[in-house]
Amino acid sequence: MFRNFPMISRVVYGRGCFEQLDDILAGKRQPGRDSMVFVVDDVFEGADLADRVPVRDSDVVLWADVEVEPKTSYVDEMTDLARAAAGDEPAGIVGIGGGSVMDLAKAVSLMLTNPGPSADYQGWDLIRNPAVYHVGIPTLSGTGAEVSRTAVLTGPEKKLGLNSDHTVFDQVVLDPDLIAAAPDRQRFYTGMDCYIHCVESLEGTYLNAFSEAYGSKALELCREVFLGPRTPESDEKLMMASFFGGMSIAYSQVGVAHATSYGLSYVLGLKHGEGNCVAFNHLEEFYPQGVAEFHRMAEFAGVDVPSGVTRNLADSDMDRMMDVSLGMGPLWENALGPAWRERMTRDRLRALYERM
Ligand code: NAD
Ligand code: ZN
Repeated sequence: MFRNFPMISRVVYGRGCFEQLDDILAGKRQPGRDSMVFVVDDVFEGADLADRVPVRDSDVVLWADVEVEPKTSYVDEMTDLARAAAGDEPAGIVGIGGGSVMDLAKAVSLMLTNPGPSADYQGWDLIRNPAVYHVGIPTLSGTGAEVSRTAVLTGPEKKLGLNSDHTVFDQVVLDPDLIAAAPDRQRFYTGMDCYIHCVESLEGTYLNAFSEAYGSKALELCREVFLGPRTPESDEKLMMASFFGGMSIAYSQVGVAHATSYGLSYVLGLKHGEGNCVAFNHLEEFYPQGVAEFHRMAEFAGVDVPSGVTRNLADSDMDRMMDVSLGMGPLWENALGPAWRERMTRDRLRALYERM
C-alpha cells in the first residue's frame, strides 16, 4: 500500500509574517464560535513576542511548560482548561513554540473533538473525529513537527504519537525572525534533529525519489547552517531545512538514532534533540559519513555532546530501554532491512547503549 498522506492546507512564510496572524485567524472566527486558544511556550511569558500575539477579548492564552516533553496527562489538563475557557469547540488552537508546544497544540485540537483521555489515542489512526482548526508557529526549527502527521506524547505506558490524518496543521506560520533568539545549544540540538532525519532517511532502505528530493535539499541547507558562518539567512535556511526534513520522512522513515533515542528519552528523560545527538554520536558503524560530519558540526558549534549517560544503569532499566527501542520496528526495518531482527540482537543493542 502506498501512503496517502495529508499535507498542511496553508503555509505563510517570510521574515515578519507573524504580523499577519490576526488577519489569518479573522477568517476562521464565526459568530458564536469566535474564541481562539493560544498555546504559547512559557519561555515567552513577559517577552516581546507575547505582546505581539493577536489576542482578542474572546480569546484565551494557555502558557505551556515544556520543561519536560509533553505527557498525555498534560494534554488532558490543557484540553480541560481550553474547554473551560472557550467551550467545547473554540474557533481554533494556535501553538507558538518549539516541537513540544506544536505537539501540544495538535493534541489539544484533537482531544477537544475526540472523547476520553489522550493516552487512548497513542498509536496509528485511532483518532475518529476531525480536530478543531489548528495552527502551528515554530520558534525553534528542526523537528519537522510543523509538517508531520503526529503529536509525540509520553503516556503511562509508552512514548508514542497521536498519528492521524487529522493531526496535521491546517495552517503554519513560518517566520524566521521567531527562531533567531533561541539559545545556541538548543538551536544546535533541535537543528541536529533535522540533520539526523535527513541522514536516516537518505541512508534508509525505504528511500524513494520523493524522500530523496526533500531530504537531499534539507541536508544541503543543514550543512550551510551548521558548517558555515551565521548570517541573517541562516534562520531562513534552517526553517526550510526543518520543513523539508519533515517532508522527507513523511514518505520514508527515521532510523537507528531515533530508535535508540526513544529508549534514552523514556528511561533517562533525555529530550528528543539531545537524545538523538547522544545516540548518533556513536553510530558510525551505521552512518559513517553522517556521524563524521556530525562531529564536525558539534565542534563548529562548540557543543560537547554528553557521553556515558547509560553508565551505572540498573539491568532492569537497560532491559526497558531495549524493549522501547526494539518496539520501533519500522525504524529498524528502514535502517537495516526486513531481516533487522537478526541483525539487531539484544546483545548488539546493549553494546550500542553501553557506548552512549
Ligand atoms: P522544545 O519545544 O522541547 O523546546 C526546548 C526548549 O527551548 C524549551 O525549554 C523551550 O521553552 C525553549 N524554546 C523554544 N523556543 C525558544 C526560543 N525561540 N527562544 C528561547 N527558548 C525557546 O524543543 P524542540 O527540539 O523544538 O522539540 C522537541 C519536541 O518535539 C519533543 O517533545 C519531541 O518529542 C517533539 N518532536 C515532534 C515531532 C513531530 O513530528 N511531531 C518530531 C520530532 C520531535
Ligand atoms: Zn526527530
